[in-house]
Amino acid sequence: MGKIYVSMVGAVNEDVVTMIARHVRGMFGFEVEMYTSFPDPDYAFEESRRQFSSALMLQNLARVRPPDAAKFLAITEADLFIPMVTFVYGQAQLAGKAALVSLARLSQEFYGLPPDKELKMRRARKEAAHELGHTFGLVHCHDRSCLMSLSTEVLQIDVKSEDFCRSCWIVLEEELTELRKETKKNKILEFRR
Ligand SMILES: [Zn+2]
Ligand SMILES: [Zn+2]
Repeated sequence: MGKIYVSMVGAVNEDVVTMIARHVRGMFGFEVEMYTSFPDPDYAFEESRRQFSSALMLQNLARVRPPDAAKFLAITEADLFIPMVTFVYGQAQLAGKAALVSLARLSQEFYGLPPDKELKMRRARKEAAHELGHTFGLVHCHDRSCLMSLSTEVLQIDVKSEDFCRSCWIVLEEELTELRKETKKNKILEFRR
């Protein structure tokens, strides 16, 4: 099925990334490998907003991803934006390969509250699985407790569970089955050669 590669963009707490990698492996059943880290995404910095363009970063990630990546998940501390919106927690290519998650607004300190490492980890797991969900073709779900529901504020992340709802799982399972079939077909072709 190929691998899911996880990478860091700029300085990121390695514990969080390792935890995300482990979580993703368990959730999607893929082999997960850490990939080269990338420097601060200066090319995506927007001076007037003091934020980073999520679209530019995603474009770049899609270009530099390892060729054998089934999915490519990048984690950053950079605060991301898309035009017309104050910020985003992440962005992904719908039914594509690249996904990006920002940890910038997932810590309690960002909101002037005392640190809570467990809570930050939980939020990071949810957002990583959510963005990867998009790469598997999942769109936003109306079920507020589903991982695929849209979060525009941190409370919405906290409200949702760490799992997809039944209907999202059905779509995801179909996609995973397709990927497994393709891998099998490729393996047989390789063998014939
Ligand atoms: Zn989303
Ligand atoms: Zn759902």
